[in-house]
Amino acid sequence: MTYQGLIHRYGQYLDLPAHTQIVSLNEGNTPLIPMPRLSRELGCELFIKFEGLNPTGSFKDRGMTAAISEAVGRGAKTVICASTGNTAASAAAYAARAGLRSIVLIPEGKVAVGKLAGAIAYGAEVIQIQGSFDDALSLVVEITQKTPIALVNSINPYRIEGQKTSSFEICDVLGSAPDWLCLPVGNAGNITSYWAGFKQYQKGLPQILGVQAEGAAPLVLGHPVEKPETVATAIRIGKPARGEQALEAAHESNGRIIAASDAKILEAQHILASEGVWVEPASAAGFAGLVAETAKGTLDAKGKKVVVVCTGHGMKDPSIITESFESPRVIPANYQALVDVVGA
Ligand SMILES: *Cc1c(COP(=O)(O)O)cnc(C)c1O
Repeated sequence: MTYQGLIHRYGQYLDLPAHTQIVSLNEGNTPLIPMPRLSRELGCELFIKFEGLNPTGSFKDRGMTAAISEAVGRGAKTVICASTGNTAASAAAYAARAGLRSIVLIPEGKVAVGKLAGAIAYGAEVIQIQGSFDDALSLVVEITQKTPIALVNSINPYRIEGQKTSSFEICDVLGSAPDWLCLPVGNAGNITSYWAGFKQYQKGLPQILGVQAEGAAPLVLGHPVEKPETVATAIRIGKPARGEQALEAAHESNGRIIAASDAKILEAQHILASEGVWVEPASAAGFAGLVAETAKGTLDAKGKKVVVVCTGHGMKDPSIITESFESPRVIPANYQALVDVVGA
C-alpha cells in the first residue's frame, strides 16, 4: 500500500481529537542511515535519523501535520507561529495545503535564508520582530488567547503527538529502541516528543543526550538566557517552552543535556557532510555532543546502538557554507585549461 503520511500510519498511537481532518504531505518515513565509517571510529553502531528529508526539510512537518489537521477540523481559518525558521516553513506549507491563512513571526535578521524563502514560497505572511524567538513566542501566545487564530507552535499538544512518530519509526526499523538517542534541544518540544513516544511504544527506552549550543544553553546553565547567540539558529532559544519536560526526559532516561560550542557544531556538520549527510548547523549538535562525550569518556558507546537525530537539511542554511569558502575557480572553456587544473 502506498505511504500516506504519519497520521494515517500511526494515528492509533496519537491522541488527536475526533474532529481531526488529515492534512498531509506524506511527511515522516525518513531514512535511518547507517554510518559505517563513523561507527568504526566511535566503536558503536551509529545511525542518522535524517529528518531533513521531510517535505519542508525538517522534522517540524511531523508535528505540523497533526496541528494543522486538528485546526482544520475545528474550523480554524488562520494559524500563527513564532519561529526560528523551520516551524514557519512547515506551518506555511501545511496551511497552504489546507487553504488556511498563515502568519509567522520571526526574530529580525536571524532566520536562515532557506527557511525564510520556504515560508514566503508557501505563501505565509512573514513578520519580523525586533526581538528574540522568545519575544515572538510570547506575542503569538497572547494573540491566540484573545482571538480565534490557532497556535501551531510546539506548546500546541498535537505538535508533540505528531512528533512522537519518529521514535516509533526508529523502533520499527531497529526492532527496538537504540541504547542512546542524541539530538539538538531548542524549545525542547522534540526531546519531549521522543521520550513520550519511546515510553508509549514499549520497545525499550534509550538514554537521551540532548545538546544545546553553548551560547543558548538555559537547560545546562539552569536559568534563562536573555540574549541567546549561536550559528545554530534553529536552537537559538533562551527560554525553552518545554524546558522542564526536557530535563525530565534526560533525567528519567538516565541521560543528560549538555552544551556544544559553535566551533564543535560546525565541525560536526563538516564530518557528517563528509559522510554524505549534509545537515543544517543545529542539526549537527547531537553528533557534536556524542563525539565530545565519547572523547571525554563520559558516554560509553562501545558496542551500543546509537541514533543521532539530524533535524533539518543543510540546504536550509546555505550561507553558513558559502560564506566560508572562496568561490570556485574560473578557467577558460578549453580542454588544456581543464587538464592543467585537474592535474591528469
Ligand atoms: C526546531 C528545531 C530544533 C529544535 O527543536 P525543539 O523541539 O525546539 O527543541 C532543532 N533543529 C532544527 C533543525 C529545528 O528546526
